[in-house]
Amino acid sequence: MTALILVAAGSGTRLAAGVPKALVEVGGRSLLQHCLDTAAKVSRISEIVVVVPAAHVAEVAASLHGGQADVVAGGQTRDASVREGLAQVRNADVVLVHDAARPFVPAEVYERVIDALVDAQAVVPAVPVVDTIKRVRDGIVVDTPQRDDLVAVQTPQGFRVGALLAAHDGDDPGVTDDAMRVERAGIPVRVVAGSPHGFKITTPFDLAVATAMVEGH
Ligand code: C5P
Repeated sequence: MTALILVAAGSGTRLAAGVPKALVEVGGRSLLQHCLDTAAKVSRISEIVVVVPAAHVAEVAASLHGGQADVVAGGQTRDASVREGLAQVRNADVVLVHDAARPFVPAEVYERVIDALVDAQAVVPAVPVVDTIKRVRDGIVVDTPQRDDLVAVQTPQGFRVGALLAAHDGDDPGVTDDAMRVERAGIPVRVVAGSPHGFKITTPFDLAVATAMVEGH
């Protein structure tokens, strides 16, 4: 049994004032709805929890006809929102955590993550890094890691429920993805192929790219 936690409680103030990022529309559907459309194609997902800003719980719940998902309020950080979602998971032994801000991750990436969880505790999808990445302090380059060692990690990230629950031991604003939690607990994190369509919508430029994609330009 696989649960999907869709974290959609970020404010996204750079995209539209007053509208949470996940509720911004691309091609007539919200980022959140695009994610739910993809999740509906993944037959192994048996329960869905959507985590949204507290002020939008009723509105989102009303828009999801027929109990398509449980809707709960998120927290101050993404990490806290994930914990709120985890608390709602009922029967699953495996959980996927997905950013609603990545609305175009194809269903096959979800499938790859679930497949790999057969013999892994934690799985992340990733794509190669094309830029050279440098560590910079006070405007000065202090290190250039070997690019061959680097990947850009996407979502959905998959976990055995027990491993993720055990790794969540309090709020930590430095946690930027779920895998970090289990890495710190010493659990190996398997990497599978992500997708160029898994990009995260953060800026108005990303939104313009997403709109062009949906409209087929
Ligand atoms: O802000 P950022 O793009 O890093 O957020 C990644 C994902 O985490 C988004 O889908 C966002 O809605 C979600 N998030 C959340 N609760 C927060 C912050 C972010 O659910 N407090």
